Amino acid sequence: MQQFDYDYLIIGQGIGGTSVAWHLHHLGKSFLIAGDSSMPSSSRVAAGIFNPLTGKKLVKTWLADDLFPYAQSFYANLEDKLACKLMHLTPIYRPFRSIEEQNTYLAQTADPGIRPYIGGTPDPRTELPYVHADFGGLEVVQSGWIDLPALLDASRLYFKNEYVESVVNATDLVREDDCILWKGKKFKTVIFSQGFFALENNWFNWLPFTPVKGQILEIVPDVPVKPYIINQGIFALPVAENRMKVGATYSWDPLDWQPTDAATEELESKLKGLLSTGYTLVGAQAGIRPSVRDRRPLIGIHPEFSNVSIFNGLGTKGVTLAPFLANEFCNHLIYGKELNPLVNIKRYFSLYFR
Ligand SMILES: Cc1cc2nc3c(=O)[nH]c(=O)nc-3n(C[C@H](O)[C@H](O)[C@H](O)COP(=O)(O)OP(=O)(O)OC[C@H]3O[C@@H](n4cnc5c(N)ncnc54)[C@H](O)[C@@H]3O)c2cc1C
Repeated sequence: MQQFDYDYLIIGQGIGGTSVAWHLHHLGKSFLIAGDSSMPSSSRVAAGIFNPLTGKKLVKTWLADDLFPYAQSFYANLEDKLACKLMHLTPIYRPFRSIEEQNTYLAQTADPGIRPYIGGTPDPRTELPYVHADFGGLEVVQSGWIDLPALLDASRLYFKNEYVESVVNATDLVREDDCILWKGKKFKTVIFSQGFFALENNWFNWLPFTPVKGQILEIVPDVPVKPYIINQGIFALPVAENRMKVGATYSWDPLDWQPTDAATEELESKLKGLLSTGYTLVGAQAGIRPSVRDRRPLIGIHPEFSNVSIFNGLGTKGVTLAPFLANEFCNHLIYGKELNPLVNIKRYFSLYFR
């Protein structure tokens, strides 16, 4: 019988790797997480918003009825375990841009699939006087935001005996048929959860990642703001009564982690249409979303090597997707349960074998 030092080696401690670690922990498996605090992470830039109804047409997020209840109970359990505030259930206010839009949106709310995610009709003149909402607006509920840096820091502390500060390149690992070796330790399986950096990993760089850079701003509004995420094209997220995050941009070239003046200008110009209050700009951050050609995550076991796996491709929605899919992934690894074919990397095996 083969003896391992740990069942799993998780590489990357963003929301992806951290969600997998929590599920393995609950399932009683041993693991080591390797991460490097000096490397950039999309999860540390993200606003952390979860929003069941997205896009111009108010479409229900893919798998929303499964993902949202699961994610909310996962984050609530972590709050208890880690004894810190992580989840802020905050409604989203979507101002209508015209009478036509008002009519279209209100007609859509009659859809029984959408109805549970629609809240009341706050009067913007009294409730949100700092928002441009001449045609009124719509309240979306079961939404909010997760304080991802707090979650990642608290999880790292909780797993202090399982966390190693180290960059692990795929080439540092020795793969044998029955184990993975790294720094003299033996693991049953390696799980790569590297976000954007999967592109540098020879085992998985054949997957069709289409990474997208994004920038967000931090502002101090001139007036106190209410706990409503304002969303119309961009979002203005109140992280405190006197502070908001504003985002986000989407750009492809260059793919780096530096905020730019052009992206700041783009966001500020859109913000003028959203908020009527003045503000002071206090910060800007940029990150790279690990997006995928078909907009579905990239999860599963390597086509040739059964002890090499990946949990990635969370794109623009890591907060909503990571908990539910980490559960599916761990059950797949441990018990061989089928993964949703829409997220399983099997759908791209032809790219590997061509
Ligand atoms: C501007 C912006 C706003 C966003 N807003 C939202 C939002 O509101 N809601 C939402 O759900 N999502 C949002 N996202 C998307 C979200 O950030 C991603 O879906 C999610 O963070 C991806 O998580 P991850 O763990 O896969 O990747 P990451 O968070 O990038 O984590 C990967 C980790 O692996 C580490 N790593 C990589 N290679 C190695 C190695 N060789 N050795 C050790 N460590 C390694 C990296 O340093 C990193 O820490 C936003 C993204 C951006 C850029």
